Amino acid sequence: MLLVENLTKSFGSNTAVDRMTFEVDRPMMIGIIGRSGAGKSTFLRMMNRMTPASSGRLVFEGTDVLQLTGGGMRQWQSQCAMIFQQFNLVPRMDVVSNVLHGTLNRRSTLGTMFNLYPTEDIHKAIDILDRLGIADHAAKRAEALSGGQQQRVAIARALMQDPKVILADEPIASLDPMNAQIVMDALRRIHDEDGRMVIANLHTLDTARRYCDRVIGMRDGRIVFDGSPAQLTVGVARDIYGADETFSESATSTEIR
Ligand code: ADP
Ligand code: MG
Repeated sequence: MLLVENLTKSFGSNTAVDRMTFEVDRPMMIGIIGRSGAGKSTFLRMMNRMTPASSGRLVFEGTDVLQLTGGGMRQWQSQCAMIFQQFNLVPRMDVVSNVLHGTLNRRSTLGTMFNLYPTEDIHKAIDILDRLGIADHAAKRAEALSGGQQQRVAIARALMQDPKVILADEPIASLDPMNAQIVMDALRRIHDEDGRMVIANLHTLDTARRYCDRVIGMRDGRIVFDGSPAQLTVGVARDIYGADETFSESATSTEIR
């Protein structure tokens, strides 16, 4: 259902993603790990067309998404929602409005100006918040919530689009262990219950091992590991991270047990 073939991105002479190739035959929860600068974010940004690829193919359910233009491209972007490390919520705006924020722009400018949301959208937003365990906070201002709650609001916003794929770029990197666990549990449940594909860039190997069905390890823009969490041995980790402190930090991370 997803084929990534020789996907490459160069910034000048720097090849950020180098002939990345892998295939996914069913919706899975995929973790991408690697050191800072390995090319993880660039891959996600190419996938949802925020960054143009230099070359290669990215085929989802038979469509080469890199060839899409105009409405087709926007449709694809709504089918693969992005979640970031920083939650990207609008401050001083209540939680429900934050969930509806992006979706409304596509409806009417007037609605946006006066914060008029269609009732069915408000109900849908609250249902999603309820599912994520934060419906009680629906009327609060976004910044009054904890980091883990704010990230779940960001997930709720993504779910409003009913995406086939959720792309998460280090979704728990700024959260404490308990909130990190809640957010990863939420992503896992969305995958399990809805059958949505989740591709998450993760900063620690432990998280990928615990939550993902498949792990892709990147180093210097290349895939150096692609396999199951069980195959993530110390030797593999060394291939991905190198035998330096970055590796030992990840390997001994006590985050999430
Ligand atoms: P990761 O997410 O794994 O930390 P990135 O995808 O952010 O890695 O970056 C991969 C490489 O691409 C790095 O060398 C980075 O400096 C470079 N890079 C990323 N974005 C840009 C950009 N907009 N302009 C120039 N170089 C970039
Ligand atoms: Mg990154």
